[in-house]
Amino acid sequence: MKRIHIIYNPKAGRSLRDMGEELGLELLKRGYQVSLYRTQAQGDATREAKERCNAQDVDILLAVGGDGTLNEVVNGIFQAEQQLPLAPFAGGTANDFCTFLKLPEEPWDYVHHLHRRAKSHMIDIGKVEDRYFINVLASGMLSEVAHKTDTQLKNILGSFAYYMEGIKEFITRGLYNKIALQSDDYHYNGEYVVFMVSNSRTIGGFKNLSPDASINDGYLNALLIKKAPFKSLVEIAMNLDQGAHVDNPYVDYFTTNKIHLVTDTHMDVDGEHLELTNATVEALPRALECIF
Ligand SMILES: [Mg+2]
Repeated sequence: MKRIHIIYNPKAGRSLRDMGEELGLELLKRGYQVSLYRTQAQGDATREAKERCNAQDVDILLAVGGDGTLNEVVNGIFQAEQQLPLAPFAGGTANDFCTFLKLPEEPWDYVHHLHRRAKSHMIDIGKVEDRYFINVLASGMLSEVAHKTDTQLKNILGSFAYYMEGIKEFITRGLYNKIALQSDDYHYNGEYVVFMVSNSRTIGGFKNLSPDASINDGYLNALLIKKAPFKSLVEIAMNLDQGAHVDNPYVDYFTTNKIHLVTDTHMDVDGEHLELTNATVEALPRALECIF
């Protein structure tokens, strides 16, 4: 009998439902042994994941929250002496990684999927200094906007809050930051709008932002939107949904397994703020067992 431990962030979602409990009940009906941990503060999911991995007293960690919760659980797994397999459930306002995996969002459907169809896969993980990420590292004005937007406002207004904050930022400070990028076969030194190193294709709700990215090819996909004439930026923005933005002359898009960056603005991993402006990002090929 499989023992599934749910790490649930009750503050992550927009819904008033108790997703942790609903998933737990569905799992019990299917004969799993279930335990449930609720996070209360930042860092709880990391600590809990690390403790369960070290104790090896469960078989699977089921992360229930948004991309931030998932990031915390992944970091806990990698801080531990031994790993446990990770099953991700989309229970937050931003669920890019689960969206990429096309996972069911209703507890009954999800548990049915987990029980009947899901398989274990070894997936790549990104690492930046001592921090791990499952989906994306991002830097630049656009990603900074996400952090300055008040959480309450985000929940109420959704993406509209981002736009408002974006416009405010654009007016007060301008669109561009500086970045220096260096890898074995690529370098850039100049102004930019956004830089991302991603594992999956789905970022910021855009399903094809890294249009041909694979989570088990051993590489991360780098995307740089450079300083460009306003007309080109509009073209890039309009092509984001289809993934055609990567063909724009002001966009560099390539795979990498290691890249160094220095920037004058902040970075984030899976939407979580990172206190770094100078860092090496690398791919850890097939480093995590993920169930989906
Ligand atoms: Mg890849």
